[in-house]
Amino acid sequence: MPKVVQTAGRDALGAFAPQFAALNDDVLFGEVWSGDGLSLKTRSMLTVTTLIAKGLCDSSFEHHVATAKKNGVTAQEMADLITHVAFYAGWPNAWAAFRVVTKVYAEDPEDRSNPEAHGGIFGLGAPNDAYAQYFTGQSYLNPLTDAGGAQFVANVTFEPGCRNNWHIHHAEEGGGQVLLVTDGRGWYQAWGEEAQELTPGTVVYIPANVKHWHGAAADSWMSHVAFEAPGTGCQNEWLEPVTDEQYALLA
Ligand code: MN
Repeated sequence: MPKVVQTAGRDALGAFAPQFAALNDDVLFGEVWSGDGLSLKTRSMLTVTTLIAKGLCDSSFEHHVATAKKNGVTAQEMADLITHVAFYAGWPNAWAAFRVVTKVYAEDPEDRSNPEAHGGIFGLGAPNDAYAQYFTGQSYLNPLTDAGGAQFVANVTFEPGCRNNWHIHHAEEGGGQVLLVTDGRGWYQAWGEEAQELTPGTVVYIPANVKHWHGAAADSWMSHVAFEAPGTGCQNEWLEPVTDEQYALLA
């Protein structure tokens, strides 16, 4: 995990309290926040929770909410977090937190500012440039197996609103595609059928020769591991984009 670089301690107190500044920047952020034991997202959720419980909704709380957003805590997750915490930390504290949180999340609610915070446990990988022509919006590809091996497996991450074109995994025998959803929320739709919501743990088997698409929800990132089922005569056919009109029907 990359080290968290913090200068707030030295900026504010470097001259007056250099030891406190060093403990803040080098130990709290440089060592504890940068530790491998918990993700930055989890650390952000714990920190926000603790500040709410202490009734601290000052500028440092606003900073930590903005950091939580950058670390991949979605608006839905933040709303759920505060609703949960309200029962333990107190109703007025939750109200005070919501006043700050709604302000922070009103700015760029879909938050594409830090793709690295997304991708889930299998990681974001790199911008999926090779297939960009078959996607609406930005996707990322993280190959999980050596492409030279027998079975290619990849983690695919879609930014909010991103989806792939209608396409078909052709096969003469066997074939098709398996999606294992690992992070966020999205959609899978087969031609002529209602879209199916995708959340972590959703498993989709897409039979060969079925026209379909998959992608993120409009307001959420989504990651799935994808691999093709064994078959003969396997070949992908990319078709037309999912139009904004088709996509808007999902909400
Ligand atoms: Mn597919």
